[in-house]
Amino acid sequence: MLLKDFFIGLSQNQFLNSAAKKYGLKMGAQSVVAGTNIPEVIKSIKELNAHGISCTVDNLGEFVYQKEEATEAKNNILAVIEAIHENNVDAHISLKPTQLGLDIDYDFALLNLKEILEKASGYNMFVNFDIEDSGHLQPAYDILDELTREFDNVGTVIQAYFHRAQEFVEKYKDMRVRIVKGAYKEPAELAYQDKKEIDANFIRITEWHLLNGKFTSIATHDHHIINHLKKFIKQNNIPKDKYEFQMLYGFRRELQLELAKEGYNFCTYVPFGKDWYGYFMRRLAERPQNLNLVAKTVFNK
Ligand code: FAD
Repeated sequence: MLLKDFFIGLSQNQFLNSAAKKYGLKMGAQSVVAGTNIPEVIKSIKELNAHGISCTVDNLGEFVYQKEEATEAKNNILAVIEAIHENNVDAHISLKPTQLGLDIDYDFALLNLKEILEKASGYNMFVNFDIEDSGHLQPAYDILDELTREFDNVGTVIQAYFHRAQEFVEKYKDMRVRIVKGAYKEPAELAYQDKKEIDANFIRITEWHLLNGKFTSIATHDHHIINHLKKFIKQNNIPKDKYEFQMLYGFRRELQLELAKEGYNFCTYVPFGKDWYGYFMRRLAERPQNLNLVAKTVFNK
């Protein structure tokens, strides 16, 4: 737990976040971040598409407190949408509402998000709202609720560690929803702390959404959960067009390919960009074995 807290602390260090932006991918981040620019990420998407894997693309960004930065993030995402369309690759967008100015001004963020959804909608492209820590949960769902009155190409994430996860899963049953365990450090009054309880809630809400929801993205690297849900899907005859499995770029590549080969719809979350630091530290927090990535690049110079 201490190591997890240490890396979550590092992920939230704004000085280190902005210092890292000045450098290319370091410390092994290149194995889990698909480059720093659009041509690099398009190349990675094409490679995954060739294996029958679709992609959700995250132009990394967090700690955005200046309007100029949020506008830059919006323009970058618009350029990614254009590149996906031009290259005719099987991919859509994942973004964080804070990246588009949610911490600066609600109406400003709303306009940025509308512009993105409008452009994506013109290309029939889906946009997923990633969800961050509990401090941003309600504002993110509020802005999402407002946008769904106008757009239907938008979906979101539900974090199974929250006690309220079942309530969220019911609220968003008519939406394309990604279910995850949750990547941030949350207090016990809001979230389960024990892995067994988080896993049980993940399974509970995913099964509920598979039976009652529009489309479920099952986002986990946990083979115990994946195997359990594969059986559940079979027993309940859940149609293929109602769900997919998702994993992060660079993690459990063999398992990603295996699931795609078995005929499951599979989508890889592909992060790229200069703002790689916070994302990478959260991955180290989740799984200290990921430190191997760091060790390999430090010692293989
Ligand atoms: P863990 O609980 O980390 O691992 C469970 C078990 O799986 C391990 O004990 C091990 O046996 C096996 N395992 C896990 N990883 C590996 C590996 N690399 N190699 C071998 N075995 C492994 N979180 C958010 O809060 N908001 C988001 O918007 C969000 N989006 C996400 C999108 C995707 C596509 C994914 C996959 C995750 C996302 N997350 C998000 C992160 C998520 O909340 C978890 O923090 C993260 O996925 C770790 O949990 P896990 O379920 O993958 O497995």
